[in-house]
Amino acid sequence: MIPATFDYQAPATLEEALSLLASDLDGAKILAGGHSLIPAMKLRLAQPQLLVDIARIKSLAYIREEGDKILIGATTTHYQLESSDLLKSICPLLPDCALNIGDVQVRNKGTIGGSVAHSDPAGDWPAAVLALGAELVLVGPNGERTEKAEDFFVDLFTTSLLPGEILREIRIPKPSGRFGQAYQKVPHPATGYAVVGIAVHLELNDDGSCKAAGIGVTGVSTKAYRAEAVETALAGTNLDDNALAAAVTHVCDGVNALSDLYASSDYRSHLAQVHTRRAIQAAKSKVK
Ligand SMILES: Cc1cc2nc3c(=O)[nH]c(=O)nc-3n(C[C@H](O)[C@H](O)[C@H](O)COP(=O)(O)OP(=O)(O)OC[C@H]3O[C@@H](n4cnc5c(N)ncnc54)[C@H](O)[C@@H]3O)c2cc1C
Repeated sequence: MIPATFDYQAPATLEEALSLLASDLDGAKILAGGHSLIPAMKLRLAQPQLLVDIARIKSLAYIREEGDKILIGATTTHYQLESSDLLKSICPLLPDCALNIGDVQVRNKGTIGGSVAHSDPAGDWPAAVLALGAELVLVGPNGERTEKAEDFFVDLFTTSLLPGEILREIRIPKPSGRFGQAYQKVPHPATGYAVVGIAVHLELNDDGSCKAAGIGVTGVSTKAYRAEAVETALAGTNLDDNALAAAVTHVCDGVNALSDLYASSDYRSHLAQVHTRRAIQAAKSKVK
């Protein structure tokens, strides 16, 4: 439970952080809230030579509207998202999702950028950013690039981040028109992480039919994913019981549901269907 020896630097700017990372591409690691990395270091699953602490870079923590986007800085904490009045009014899925993470101590230190970059298969944020069609802004030695959330999550604890890159910002299309959102989670009784977590963003036409749906799924597979077959099956329907029952059968299409001591693959698939249906119903009930 004692980490291997490491050096520590707390740069004041993003530029300094990038240059520290570039100085040791193999041995340096970003530290944000530390709530996933420090446990991994204590178990010696990670043994970085140098920790570059980006949590002290003040310009990386913000939530703001800009044009038709919501911009969230990578070191914004779960608690800042949970308690944001702006988000409660324009994109309630984000505070709802934050509220489901760990306990208040975890939410006070852990960051959305750290959670997204960690790509824990049972982490909550990946489901929400996928459902919302987010873009991730990545900055590195070769400049800045954006990546769609669905291309960012590659596999278990693996993303498309390149060596020396920092996830700087999460950009979310600002919901408009008639929309409703919900997050449904079955927490593991021992860890609180998602056995299944379903994030839903629904957009309705004036006649109440489904214009578009974004469904993000976590806990089920080795990485979070968008349930595109469910989204397609919902589009154009009036979201009645028959439409929902048919659509949710597709939630595990294209993935092998994980099996572990707590939940077999079949049980997890079943939970995913039940909670996708509940999340869609909850999102529909919140449409304004
Ligand atoms: C007791 C406990 C309970 C928890 N329960 C839950 C839960 O229910 N649901 C849930 O989703 N999570 C849970 N977590 C995890 C928590 O949400 C973490 O905060 C989160 O997973 C990682 O964020 P962090 O800021 O702590 O990142 P860190 O631990 O600092 O970093 C995690 C990884 O991401 C990298 N990284 C961090 N920031 C960036 C960046 N901006 N750009 C590129 N790479 C970066 C780091 O190098 C590291 O590899 C729990 C943690 C604990 C300790």
